Order: sequence, then structure tokens, then C-alpha cells
Amino acid sequence: MKKLQILASSFAIAVLISCNSNAQTKSTVPEVSPAPMKPDMTEIWNPEVAVVTPGKALGDAPSDAIILFDGKDLSQWVSAKDGGAPKWNIRNGIMEVAPGTGDIKTKMKFGDCQLHIEWSAPDEVKGNSQGRGNSGVFFQDRYELQVLDSYQNRTYRNGQAGSIYKDQAPLVNVTRGPLEWNTYDVIYTAPRFKADGRIDYPARITVLHNGVVVQNNTTILGLTLYIGLHNYPEAHGDDVIHLQDHGNVTQFRNIWIRKL
Ligand code: MG
Repeated sequence: MKKLQILASSFAIAVLISCNSNAQTKSTVPEVSPAPMKPDMTEIWNPEVAVVTPGKALGDAPSDAIILFDGKDLSQWVSAKDGGAPKWNIRNGIMEVAPGTGDIKTKMKFGDCQLHIEWSAPDEVKGNSQGRGNSGVFFQDRYELQVLDSYQNRTYRNGQAGSIYKDQAPLVNVTRGPLEWNTYDVIYTAPRFKADGRIDYPARITVLHNGVVVQNNTTILGLTLYIGLHNYPEAHGDDVIHLQDHGNVTQFRNIWIRKL
């Protein structure tokens, strides 16, 4: 009998709650139904999307790209050491690291961007692991997309070609042999910082290596460090792209960038 009473009172409470919630729901429904949707109600016409002429072949610069290297000169670059003219070599339309002369960096600064760069490991295979064809592309002067001769050359997975150095391994290894050229097509989103300088949103990166996705909107955990854990110690704005002299005769060509 007691059980029945409990059941009955539970049912009464449930009905009350149900009525109450119905009443609340009803009060939020508009009195008048909106006008029926028409196709043009979801069409946005202005401003018109900017027209960009694509390159003739895949990998060629589109019309709105900033050309960072077209095989002729290093006029868009300076030495990272002293800000003077870079001492890397140019021959047959390619630039080549002159080991010991130091990194080079762009004169211009960038944040969010799309970058195309082609690279080739030294023709003569020397060294192993990190000692073979090592260079790198640093975004905002801080975050390294590794360049390495990873063709039949084992190293730690988060240090091989296509990795964000010591941060994120590539999804696959699609490195071509040292006599061939590799392409990187990168979509980079700069980190955002709070007013007090702490990190708000970390940097993100998508990388296609020879047309194959190796970083898929990957979170960059912080500054590239040889020793230590990654972090974002301080806020920063747009900054240079820099290419690394790691003592190997790595070659580059056809470098262009678009600000996003
Ligand atoms: Mg490197």
C-alpha cells in the first residue's frame, strides 16, 4: 500500500513538472511564425571575393603571392647573424646553404600565411640521423618545420622531415631521394595571446609534403627547443621566416608566400 502511495505521488510530481516545462517551452515559441525562407535570403553578394590568378602549374606562385626566392637573388633575405647580405650560394636557379655562414631570414614579417617552398638534400649522402641534409623552416622566427634527408635515414620520429621539430611527428614519411626535389605546402596559423601575454590559442599548422598531408591542422606546442619542453614564454606578433644553416649543403628553390 505504501509503495502504491509513493508511486502515485511520484506520478503526480512528474505530471506537474511536465506541465510546467510545457508552459515554459510554449512561452518561448514566437507568437507569429517567421516568413517562409526564400533562396536569396541566404545569398551574400558583397564584398565580391577577390580574384587571384593561379600559377600555370601546381606549385607555381599565384598572382597575389609574395615571391621570396625565384632563383635569381636573395634580395628578400638577410643574414640572421648580422642583418647583412646572406652568404648562401646561388647557382642554376637554386639557393644553397653555405655551411658556417649562419641562418638567413626574410626582410618581411608574417603571421598567418600560406607558404610554398621546395628543397633538396645534399647530392652527396653524408652523415646519418640529424646529421644528414638538416635544415629547417622557422615560422615567426620560432617554430621549426624540419627539413631533413629522411630518405632511408632513421632518426627520432618527431625530428624527421615534415615534423615540427621535437614537437609533432609527421603522419607519414614521403621524403624523396637526395637527387630529387621535395615540396612543402604549408598553411600556418599564428598563435594568439591574451592581453597579459599568456597564450590564448596555440599556433596551428597543416603541411603537405610532396602533395601528401603530413601535418593536419596540428597544434604547435610552443617554441622549438633542442633541449626542454615546448612552451609559449611570451607574446609576440608577426615575425620573419627563417631558414636554418645546420652545416649541411641543403638546397632551396621556388619560395613564395601569401598572407592570410
Ligand atoms: Mg633543422
